[in-house]
Amino acid sequence: MADTFDLLLTGGTVLNPVTGVNRKLDVGVAEGRVTAILADLPRANANKVLDVAGCYVTPGLIDFHVHSYWGVNPYGCNLDALCLATGVTTTMDAGSAGPVNFLGFRNLVSESSKTRMLGFVALAQHGVLNEPGELLNLGFADSDGAAQTVGDNRDIGVGIKVRLHRKSIGENSRAALRLAIKAGEATRTPTMVHVGDTAISMSEIADTLRPGDIITHCYTPQKPSIIDETGKLLTEVRKAKERGVIFDVGHAGGHFDFDLVRRAMGDGLLPDVISSDLHGRLKQPGFGIVGDLPTTLTKFLALGLNLEEIIARCTINPARVIDWQDRIGSLEVGREADIAVLKITDEPTTLRDSVGGEWSVNQRIAAQWTIRQGELFKGKG
Ligand SMILES: [Zn+2]
Repeated sequence: MADTFDLLLTGGTVLNPVTGVNRKLDVGVAEGRVTAILADLPRANANKVLDVAGCYVTPGLIDFHVHSYWGVNPYGCNLDALCLATGVTTTMDAGSAGPVNFLGFRNLVSESSKTRMLGFVALAQHGVLNEPGELLNLGFADSDGAAQTVGDNRDIGVGIKVRLHRKSIGENSRAALRLAIKAGEATRTPTMVHVGDTAISMSEIADTLRPGDIITHCYTPQKPSIIDETGKLLTEVRKAKERGVIFDVGHAGGHFDFDLVRRAMGDGLLPDVISSDLHGRLKQPGFGIVGDLPTTLTKFLALGLNLEEIIARCTINPARVIDWQDRIGSLEVGREADIAVLKITDEPTTLRDSVGGEWSVNQRIAAQWTIRQGELFKGKG
């Protein structure tokens, strides 16, 4: 029955960038799906009524770059509980698994997590490694195997990942980039490229990528950068942006510099996707300067994006990059009930970047509740 709900969210502001909705509406959930989005839905037939006045009710957040292959990959960590405490209902693992061990990612991570955990398949046959890096020996690159793995796992394998920094790959970046794109072409999926300390120039990387391919760590302070010494965007980067190459934040410990972000955004390079790059080698308590996805989003609030612009960058935008926009990234009747309940709280907060920068702000984005497939989880606030 249309007016019988397992869960009813009342009094919140529904904010859904893809449909342009931004107003007070109730949201009804039944049998794991969104069944109504209307003003003043009847309370009487709801199993549970949750008053979310003062909060924003958004599509479940998508963290487009994490490392969740815990217990197997050196960067992996168990992120399920943190996701469900921070409004995140879908994550993309960024290449922790390659052709030889993606089945383990499916069994150990994707199928055993409440959070929907998808993955980019590494070009390196065993996934990304720490030291020695995964493609110092290019013999470990397996373009055909990566393509086959995506083809065999279309329900969770969403693209190809390659890291181009010297520690991972030495001087093999040009050859590896081409092999990764070849796998992307074969599977009609995007290739995600890790930049920072690369042996080839940012201009060459930007020029080589196809529309829809992804530059992750786009604001890294490591050279070569997307901006020149005067703070202007490189011509090839601007052209890549215009062509539809995707720029993803991929914050992590080492890839965020407030000053560089300000300059790049000031010269027109807004991120397409805002992601945390949470991983298991961020040894500081609470994942150090990254914290979580809402903390990363708060940085962009401070940098001048409004909440609607921010939410688009962690819902519908990443969904579109992997061509999943019909499944995730929007809050609509009939869809799986993946929902975030967020609040902008007025409280002093210190934000930190990768080069020692600190920024005291008076507002932050706080996750109050997460609903995944209709199931309710308390946010960490
Ligand atoms: Zn990463």
